[in-house]
Amino acid sequence: MMRRPLIAGNWKMHKTIAGARELAAAVAEASRKVGDRDVMVAPPCTALVAVAEVLAGSGVMLAAQNIHWQESGAFTGEISPAMLRDVGGSAAIIGHSERRHLFGENNAMINKRILGALAAGITPVLCIGETLAQREAGSTTAVLEGQLRAGLAGVDPSGATELVIAYEPVWAIGTGKTATKEQAQTVHVFIRQVVGELYEKTIAGQMRILYGGSVKPDNIDSLMSQEDIDGVLVGGAALDADSFIRIISFSTV
Ligand code: PEP
Repeated sequence: MMRRPLIAGNWKMHKTIAGARELAAAVAEASRKVGDRDVMVAPPCTALVAVAEVLAGSGVMLAAQNIHWQESGAFTGEISPAMLRDVGGSAAIIGHSERRHLFGENNAMINKRILGALAAGITPVLCIGETLAQREAGSTTAVLEGQLRAGLAGVDPSGATELVIAYEPVWAIGTGKTATKEQAQTVHVFIRQVVGELYEKTIAGQMRILYGGSVKPDNIDSLMSQEDIDGVLVGGAALDADSFIRIISFSTV
């Protein structure tokens, strides 16, 4: 089963408009040189319009770092799928561990965001991952299965085909600790198995499952050499053009 690799950069709460334009221009140029993979960037909301202008025609996907489920309304601090489409965005990160752990988003809210994004034609990147305490307690698979089942509740097969999953162990995000390629591969196989149970094997076989957690230029090639790692979601190393370009340009040979 051939799955097109996807390399996504999450800029979090970084970059002014000028810095975002500069980074987006470098990413756009680099992505033109690699035709066999998809590239996505998720700037802060304040830079979405500027980045969309820079990326126009480049093929680089523009994502939001979160998305509400309603088209408009009294939801201070949120942006809607319609607003994202309005600026040329086509994807949204949903359920990032920082949203779950720092801002208290739960599975039920994350599920609403997923359903709202899909209904509006936005590709959700559903993030799931266990904490260090959960891993050490031996509950990694139970936690991930719970996040998957709750996050995907009510998502029909066509929605599941559209969706991307990012496995991001919380203990590896921004800590410099990367899951070994074997640890990540094992979890990705498990995720694919759960998706296969929820839908069917062909959908699970087509679904892109990204790894995230301290991905860097020096570990990208070995992570991408794993059969079930279909791409990466990158935080810190996506903020520097040279390092993100090296990650985009990964090679598994
Ligand atoms: C992330 O925020 O999704 C992430 C994986 O961050 P970092 O690459 O900095 O660990």
